[in-house]
Amino acid sequence: MSVQVVAAKMAEVELKDIPSKELAPVSPVTPKGEEKALVKNEPNATSAAATSPAAIATETVQRGDPSLSPTPSPNPMKVPQASAMKRTDPQQNGGEAFINQDGTVAEAPRMKKQIQFADQKQEFNKRPTKIGRRSLSRSISQSSTDSYSSAASYTDSSDDETSPRDKQQKNSKGQSDFCIKNIKQAEFGRREIEIAEQEMPALMALRKRAQGEKPLAGAKVVGCTHITAQTAVLMETLSALGAQCRWAACNIYSTQNEVAAALGEGGFSVFAWKGESEDDFWWCIDRCVNVEGWQPNMILDDGGDLTHWIYKKYPNMFKKIKGIVEESVTGVHRLYQLSKAGKLCVPAMNVNDSVTKQKFDNLYCCRESILDGLKRTTDVMFGGKQVVVCGYGEVGKGCCAALKAMGSIVYVTEIDPICALQACMDGFRLVKLSEVIRQVDIVITCTGNKNVVVREYLDRMKNGCIVCNMGHSNTEIDVASLRTPELTWERVRSQVDHVIWPDGKRIVLLAEGRLLNLSCSTVPTFVLSITATTQALALIELYNAPEGRYKQDVYLLPKKMDEYVASLHLPTFDAHLTELTEEQAKYLGLNKNGPFKPNYYRY
Ligand code: NAD
Repeated sequence: MSVQVVAAKMAEVELKDIPSKELAPVSPVTPKGEEKALVKNEPNATSAAATSPAAIATETVQRGDPSLSPTPSPNPMKVPQASAMKRTDPQQNGGEAFINQDGTVAEAPRMKKQIQFADQKQEFNKRPTKIGRRSLSRSISQSSTDSYSSAASYTDSSDDETSPRDKQQKNSKGQSDFCIKNIKQAEFGRREIEIAEQEMPALMALRKRAQGEKPLAGAKVVGCTHITAQTAVLMETLSALGAQCRWAACNIYSTQNEVAAALGEGGFSVFAWKGESEDDFWWCIDRCVNVEGWQPNMILDDGGDLTHWIYKKYPNMFKKIKGIVEESVTGVHRLYQLSKAGKLCVPAMNVNDSVTKQKFDNLYCCRESILDGLKRTTDVMFGGKQVVVCGYGEVGKGCCAALKAMGSIVYVTEIDPICALQACMDGFRLVKLSEVIRQVDIVITCTGNKNVVVREYLDRMKNGCIVCNMGHSNTEIDVASLRTPELTWERVRSQVDHVIWPDGKRIVLLAEGRLLNLSCSTVPTFVLSITATTQALALIELYNAPEGRYKQDVYLLPKKMDEYVASLHLPTFDAHLTELTEEQAKYLGLNKNGPFKPNYYRY
């Protein structure tokens, strides 16, 4: 069978036989004894084939919801128990639910300069003066001239010191409902998007499959994610599927300015630029939602800041919002906290815990990009270097694997004995941070937690130690504790600060403790394609779900959808998937078309 035929067959397999047991609200933080019953029905394996994303989604749910799918299923597989579905409670130690990105964006000095202190933090609505904003913008753009070390955006117009908020820009059609660095970069951004499209086969396939049918017609999606070429492909796919989109960045450094320009040129309302201040960050989010004559009915969030903002400022908007799709560990944790407190007022899809997200985005993306981020910022050689990686979850595993392959001596810290044992079995030394902090050359945090690297450890690090974070928030390294008068900060490159102690010792702090790979390097498009496809399917699913299908709870995408996302990516590798024979399927108690694993399977 040719590759094309296999691919076509796989795409056709779609979600024909999605079993009901997948569709289960999962509340990882639900305390013992309060666990909700998950799906109670048996799957219905007899529905007609779905042929479009909307149909796929609907089909999935119909087979999942007992009220919609009364036919008893011949599938003998048991519905997993709540405990089996409790995949993560990402940050039980995490503390606050809605920590804003703390720490002000420090002015990046050309010369040695004391950095501003935490209590100088600007708050939303206390807009800084024009000059103040300029100086923030200026300091960041000044240091962004070195595009080699700041590859997330190749075209920073460092000469332009004007804050995008002070500019009036229009696209070629005269539209001005966007705020970006420089609309003139649109053409270059378009090329970036076209390159990304080549590595995002599933989204392109969704666009094709949805021709004529618009499963997101009428959807008004407000998004807060990293604004990169890959996100642009997602946004343009959502638009092709019928959605209107308004977008802000979930990270002040990760926006590709040229891509934002291309989106603005294409008529998207994008509010983001690389090197936003803290104040800009919230302003951009607000511009996305606070607009006359337009109200979002779907949220696509990465980190929970957008969701938080709407909860805080515009709670009434939730009357029209049909659902939230959340991508990150941190954001999902926040949703579970809301759910636990009974404050979640719409259904939410936990995309982060989809197998295709966890295993590919977190693991492979970080495995590929950790070295890139470190190399571009510091030119460090990895061979023989002693590195400590804090957290041996998916991200930590990816980082450790890459560093080990480069000949680094890797130590791991963990709080969870299971992950700790995995680290040991993978050949890493499990240590406490305090045991190795004096000797390591590089410290990488990937816990999703807070205050993992505190001032005490920073004080004890050796001269030249590189400190960076791969977790979502800038909470893992206590950067604020370094903003004290006796320490001198020296901006040596974009996203690279030397923090100098009175005795001359310096540590190399990357991206001010923000997520390294998205701030300082690029990430593999193909991996992001997998996550973006999952996000698109989750949006379609929530948007098309009839009233009552989803409660005010946090749900996982059905495994069948995960498998579908994976199958859409296989043709790229000329991969030939083996098909179950009838006999084998019967023997294993599986439907020939999947799902092939129970929900509790861990891959
Ligand atoms: P995970 O839950 O699988 O792993 C985190 C690990 O850290 C867990 O094993 C946990 O036990 C451990 N941990 C928690 N507190 C700790 C502490 N104080 N010391 C040592 N270990 C500790 O989560 P993950 O999927 O690996 O994601 C981790 C973080 O990375 C999250 O914030 C997530 O949003 C982010 N993330 C980043 C990227 C990226 O591209 N940089 C991609 C995906 C996820």
